[in-house]
Amino acid sequence: MDHNATTPVHPDVLEAMLPYFTKYFGNASSVHSFGREARNGMEEARERLANFIGANPSEIIFTSGGTESDNFAIEGAAYENIKKGKHIITTLIEHHAVLNTCKHLETHGFEVSYLTVDKYGVIDLDELNDLIRDETILITIMHANNEVGTIQPLKEIGQIAKERGIIFHSDAVQSLGKIPINVDELGVDMMSFSAHKIYGPKGIGALYIRKGTKVEPLIRGGHHERNRRGGTENVPGIVGFGKAIEIASADMEQESKRLWNLTEKLKNGLLEKLDYIYVNSHPTQRLPNTLNISFDYVEGESILLNLDMKGIAASTGSACTSGSLEPSHVLLALGICAATAQGAIRFSLGRSNTDEDIDYVLDELPTIVNRLRSMSPLYADRVKQDKSVISNQ
Ligand SMILES: *Cc1c(COP(=O)(O)O)cnc(C)c1O
Repeated sequence: MDHNATTPVHPDVLEAMLPYFTKYFGNASSVHSFGREARNGMEEARERLANFIGANPSEIIFTSGGTESDNFAIEGAAYENIKKGKHIITTLIEHHAVLNTCKHLETHGFEVSYLTVDKYGVIDLDELNDLIRDETILITIMHANNEVGTIQPLKEIGQIAKERGIIFHSDAVQSLGKIPINVDELGVDMMSFSAHKIYGPKGIGALYIRKGTKVEPLIRGGHHERNRRGGTENVPGIVGFGKAIEIASADMEQESKRLWNLTEKLKNGLLEKLDYIYVNSHPTQRLPNTLNISFDYVEGESILLNLDMKGIAASTGSACTSGSLEPSHVLLALGICAATAQGAIRFSLGRSNTDEDIDYVLDELPTIVNRLRSMSPLYADRVKQDKSVISNQ
């Protein structure tokens, strides 16, 4: 139940990739038939991704993953538009690929404003409007959050960006293949994607760049990717990404509905069986597969280790920040106190999860939480206090 960290490569994806390591090994830039074969596989994948998001294939640039796409979009737009201004707007709950790129730009003379969010992680459109100035050159706001699953009102943000003539980028790594994406309807100028979150291989991603959007390259080299990203293309990875898109588009609506029902069952089951737990995910505007819950009076890390012993994989926050003992920056931005944030668990479901898996977690997790809580003096005090309040009423 940790599919937001990564997913297994789908067997059909692997099968589609294999010939591109052997038979069709050519360099996609070569003129001869070996090169053409590689190029054909690559262009087919580009078309698939473009069709899936309502873009033109010429607007898709393949990269090494979501992180590079975010770096490319933000740095590229910042430096290309530096004459207009040096102000960027983002949010407090972005992935570190966005946050750390913005932090880096701050050390190079750019100014970054960080939008706050409500208790579910949704930005405030009025605050966005207020932050925009003449020098604002870029708005970067993620489509769906990787830790809590909250979906932002991109369409409304896109309208504001367009009215004010500002480039609008969105990290859509978590939303791709889970909810519909149409770049024109959402009004985005750039969008970041990654293959390994949707049953494709690791190390391959894409950046959508709307025709006419001015961005400087991040990786300079040969004339690959219309001069926008140097380096011989990762053809097997790109072909695998294309296949992953095909698989996602075949049953997205059905699979999303299935995962929504499973996460709702998990949520309701836990709320029924345990006290002092809080749902950090939005009641409706969340990714269908993502559920984030805080368990007071227990450390998330302790829950994870105990779940792991039962063969259940979940996470405390994002895979990229686990290992650090600081509470998640996303949960803190939601206004959750540090102690409650430390007790948060993210369940992110995927294709392999079944109804039986949910039953199993609902059997095991309450036992684990109750056992850990039985060792907590704070928990014992709280229960005593609440009981006395009830008896005094
Ligand atoms: C995973 C993730 C990324 C990073 O993508 P990589 O392909 O692993 O570099 C960026 N943004 C979000 C929201 C993610 O979930």
